[in-house]
Amino acid sequence: MNADFDALTARLAEHDDLRSAAALLRWDQATYMPEGGSAARGRQLATLEKLAHDRLTDPELARLVDRVTPAAEREGDGSFAARLVRVARRDIERAARVPAAFVSAFATHRAELYDRWVRARPANDFASVAPLLARTVEMSREYAGFFAPYAHVADPLIDLMDPDLKVTQLRALFDGLRAELVPLVDAITRAAPADASCLHQTFPEADQLAFASAMATRFGYDWSRGRQDRTAHPFMTKFSLGDVRITTRVRPNDLAQALFCTLHEAGHALYEQHIDRRYEATLLAEGTSSGVHESQSRLWENLVGRSLPFWKGQYPTLQAAFPAQLGGVPLDTFYRAINRVQRSLIRTDADEVTYGLHVIMRFDFELELLEGKLAAADLAEAWRERARTDLGVVPGTDADGCLQDVHWYDGFVGGAFQSYALGNLMGAQFFAAALRAHPSIPREIEAGHFDTLRTWLADNVYVHGRARTPDELMLSATGAPLSTAPFMDYLRTKYGALYGL
Ligand code: ZN
Repeated sequence: MNADFDALTARLAEHDDLRSAAALLRWDQATYMPEGGSAARGRQLATLEKLAHDRLTDPELARLVDRVTPAAEREGDGSFAARLVRVARRDIERAARVPAAFVSAFATHRAELYDRWVRARPANDFASVAPLLARTVEMSREYAGFFAPYAHVADPLIDLMDPDLKVTQLRALFDGLRAELVPLVDAITRAAPADASCLHQTFPEADQLAFASAMATRFGYDWSRGRQDRTAHPFMTKFSLGDVRITTRVRPNDLAQALFCTLHEAGHALYEQHIDRRYEATLLAEGTSSGVHESQSRLWENLVGRSLPFWKGQYPTLQAAFPAQLGGVPLDTFYRAINRVQRSLIRTDADEVTYGLHVIMRFDFELELLEGKLAAADLAEAWRERARTDLGVVPGTDADGCLQDVHWYDGFVGGAFQSYALGNLMGAQFFAAALRAHPSIPREIEAGHFDTLRTWLADNVYVHGRARTPDELMLSATGAPLSTAPFMDYLRTKYGALYGL
């Protein structure tokens, strides 16, 4: 067992090294690479990804997994070895099902469509990308076909991001969520709108970054194992458990950008920084699903970072950082500003109440496109109609409609969006469980102490990495399967008070 297990982890570490090298090149591309590097960078990434894929599908790796399995099973279902074998087998089988020819054909197609989209969005020219998008839908179906049989053609695509979840469950969850969100948004938008003008003054960029980083530090982000840089689109990336980086963007006239982007990405990073160090470079050292990952960014950004207890504690510090801008702005005004709910066109600018409606709409379109009920060419029109009924606003341009998100123009149609809504649901469910275990958490947050919450999350969620599936994690950490109830309770309590409902 030991020699085989060591050989297995050594091979997995080489695979991880290749993926980490690709991630590092991608981070560099988004932060510091000069424009002239882009063509070579594309080739370098393709080479590394091919090598990583080759390592994962090397028959010797599968043989090692087989050899290690009996001993791993004897160690018990919850053991490191048993969990590693389960995840390795899943990843190897998944990689082996997709022919190399498809992988490279899709990479080429994807790069071409992305390039067109970059130009089509500012030009508001959906027609120029629609035929290629139709091809993406076909190729997404083809990809799903490698995993037949399935109950729904989107299931294998969803499984890439959120293992354990299928269209039937998601449709039930999201239909229920939508049915509750639509009347809540109606009620809120009938009330007097919040005034967010205090956020839109001039705030020096360096001071914004300093305050946001200080908050990430307080949450527990470990700067000796991370760093922050600026990018157009903020993200978190990891090259090892000792190097978990975040990026942010700063807008001088919008205090919310750098602050909440930083808290969001710090939430993702806290998850990765607290994974069991034994799992390093083994396939287990990652978040267990996109939805669970997003639950942590949304938890720290919204349930903590946009909460009243948090700002009762931190608002005086923020005012001291920006005395000219916020010195005369009462806490209540600021709190309402950062929690303003409004009908909006752009998903990434949406508040936490309307956000789910943006996501569910995209999820439903993915299913309709894959099922052949909606043609790619008709997406723009369908988008306008659905935005009118669900969001209460109609985009004047496709740039503000079906061209706004990069996802379908740089990847599969199917599985691209559900994680964002799941993140809200899961985040609220984890947070409620943490509060049941430690009712003192809100008082501690007000006092600027986050250790109890972070430690509970680390022990119950983070440390497990991929050793627990999302379903197992939900049950073990919260005692219940995933549900919309904790999130809707949270929204009703918070926004009921804010908008006097
Ligand atoms: Zn995120």
